[in-house]
This record gives sequence, structure tokens and C-alpha cells, in this order.
Amino acid sequence: MKIDSIVNGIVLDHITAGKVMEVYEALNLDQMDCSVAIMKNVKSNKMGKKDILKIDNDVEVDVDVLGYIDPNITVTIIRNGKAVEKKKLQLPDKVVNVVKCCNPRCITSIEEGLDHIAILTNKQEHIYRCIYCETKINKKST
Ligand SMILES: [Zn+2]
Repeated sequence: MKIDSIVNGIVLDHITAGKVMEVYEALNLDQMDCSVAIMKNVKSNKMGKKDILKIDNDVEVDVDVLGYIDPNITVTIIRNGKAVEKKKLQLPDKVVNVVKCCNPRCITSIEEGLDHIAILTNKQEHIYRCIYCETKINKKST
């Protein structure tokens, strides 16, 4: 796979340097059959360094998950070798089963099969809280 010649696929650009593996895992790309190119510490005028991920397949990416990990990522959809759509991400108001509550007494720790739901309670500081016990979710910071 030539990384610059995706015909149908997705390019995730402007990933904060060092976060590309987190994105890779969050999108379950290890379970996919398609070619994935991971570029780390690419020089960027705007950011100094950035990571880029290219997926050589027409997959749906979960923009909520991506926005939660890093709202600065730009998502470009490639069709027939052309960029047909660019998506800007934002912090989602709510994420389901993206992060687990770390409170051992939380109902999600006790009862199996419950969805782990976190809501954004402070947009400026990117703080999410568990909807069941209101424990602050430790979002991995950069
Ligand atoms: Zn909880």
C-alpha cells in the first residue's frame, strides 16, 4: 500500500503526537482486514509534531470516540482518490462504552452488562463524569 495513494479510505490527520495507537485501538483497527498506515511524529508547521493514520478501506469511524480521544483530529473521507468529505470533530456530550468508570463501588463495576455512560460536564477542561455515580472519569491527558 502506498500511503499517499488511498483510493477509497479514511485519513485521520492532526492527531496529537503520541496518540495514534490510542486511536488505532479505540477504532478496533487490529481486528480489521484492511491496510492501515500509522505515521508517528510527522513534522507539522501548525503543531510541531503530529500523528497520522490512514485506513485503506471504506470503513465507518466512530466520530464520538475520536472526538473524545482528541477533538483536534481531522477526518478526511477519500473516494476514488479524491477527498470528498472533511469532518471536524468535537468533544461529544456523551460517550457510551468508550471509557470505564473507575469507582469500584459504582453499579457498573458490580452489575455486568451495564453500559458505561459518561457525560461531558466541563467542556473547557474536558471533564466527563459517570452518569451513575458522578465519578470523574480519568481521561488520559497529553
Ligand atoms: Zn460510576
